[in-house]
Amino acid sequence: MEQWGAALYGDPCRECGFDWALTPREAVEWVAGWGPRVEAATRDVEGGRRRPEGGWSVAEYVSHVGDNLRQWTERVQSARLAGERDVAGYDPDALAAARGYATLPLAVAVWSSTLAAVTWADVVGRALDEGVELRHATRGIQRAADVARNNCHDAHHHLWDIRRIRRS
Ligand SMILES: [Zn+2]
Repeated sequence: MEQWGAALYGDPCRECGFDWALTPREAVEWVAGWGPRVEAATRDVEGGRRRPEGGWSVAEYVSHVGDNLRQWTERVQSARLAGERDVAGYDPDALAAARGYATLPLAVAVWSSTLAAVTWADVVGRALDEGVELRHATRGIQRAADVARNNCHDAHHHLWDIRRIRRS
């Protein structure tokens, strides 16, 4: 079984300080506020900036958060709209290459990820009401509550990555 969530990152997260005790509703509210959060975190910074040691750039992190939210919105909708509860992981680096994150302007990544966050919050909020459960190929049962906290952590963690780039 793949480690995920607090077991993988620590509680609170050893890097970004994310507190896994937040409720699923609080997670949904946090992600619903992604637009203003990411705008504040990326104001007056070059989208292509990255840490001297490498890794994703500011704009690439923002694009990843948007795509991660879109990916999970679709998987939750697969359960809600089509009764398809099986889900597997995906390769974020392969997706970054296929979608050309490196050539996407930061302003576009911010706009696109904000749309993804609004849609995600609507869908995951409904899935919480309905008690949706997914079957993940390597993590086992993923309840809507788990998806809410996991996806919130991903976005929170990458805001931390962006702030770290700004300090580097
Ligand atoms: Zn974290």
